[in-house]
Amino acid sequence: LAQLFRPLDLLGMVYRTIRQGALDMAAMFDLIDTPATIRDAPNAGVLAVTTGHVRFEHVSFGYDAERPILTDLTLDVPAGTTCAVVGRSGAGKSTLARLLYRFYDLNGGRITVDGQDIAQVTQASLRAAIGIVPQDTVLFNDTIGYNIAYGREGADTPEIEEAARGAAISAFIERQPQGYDTRVGERGLKLSGGEKQRVAIARTLLKNPPILILDEATSALDSRTEAEILETLERIERGRTTIVIAHRLSTVVHADQIVVLDAGHVAETGTHAELLRRGGIYAEMWARQAQERDETALAAE
Ligand code: ATP
Repeated sequence: LAQLFRPLDLLGMVYRTIRQGALDMAAMFDLIDTPATIRDAPNAGVLAVTTGHVRFEHVSFGYDAERPILTDLTLDVPAGTTCAVVGRSGAGKSTLARLLYRFYDLNGGRITVDGQDIAQVTQASLRAAIGIVPQDTVLFNDTIGYNIAYGREGADTPEIEEAARGAAISAFIERQPQGYDTRVGERGLKLSGGEKQRVAIARTLLKNPPILILDEATSALDSRTEAEILETLERIERGRTTIVIAHRLSTVVHADQIVVLDAGHVAETGTHAELLRRGGIYAEMWARQAQERDETALAAE
């Protein structure tokens, strides 16, 4: 009988692995129109992360052959630093993150982590090294504790609580009559956008990856929630190599490096102050957003 069950165990494990991967990806990417054609190279090794240095070297990519999205893009993200990617809608910011996660293979060039080509290591080891805080977090119809624990299989209660504290959601959870056993989702407690994002942050803290992708929410959070989330994110970025897909410029000011994507390549790179001085695309985007902010503030008065 045991013989009969072993394959089932294995199936269960495979299922869990696929489910974990699929949900991570579903959360961040549009699962519907994404082909699952990525295979491990025949002799793929395990990614050995030493410092978490990420490099895009002469990367070219298009979802279809006729329409290149990135052409000859080179980008260096030193270990432990934060790189914010900005650019107009459709410039390819999210695409960069998808490529680092190896959701697609490149048409040219390579992406390396600590010098290892990500196409030559197992997808499992690559994805274990990368944490994603997506725009919209998928929550299960289960307890809030379960939803956090999902970040790392086998996490125990003290670890879950510590992650919740790190994500500044523990007080909220403890206020619920059933605490960590409170059910969330369609048939349970409804979480706000900011609370959901905190669950994603707690999951990421449990996973404790050396590399982080933050896909900033496009949906508006109120300014206090936004400031609190930013503060939490800044804390979890410390010591990790972080790529922020920035949809609003207010969040990129403190990045070690800001990269402006335009027409498929890096048009400008520098710190906030450097890019403002340069008076190029970034300075123009900043002036435009500042004006929009002023207009919104005026309208609110
Ligand atoms: P935004 O700020 O609006 O989120 P972005 O800079 O993140 O935009 P991407 O999502 O990377 O842009 O998309 C870059 C381009 O690739 C867009 O023109 C988009 O239409 C196209 N694209 C994105 N995903 C796919 C896909 N799965 N299949 C085909 N084309 C795609």
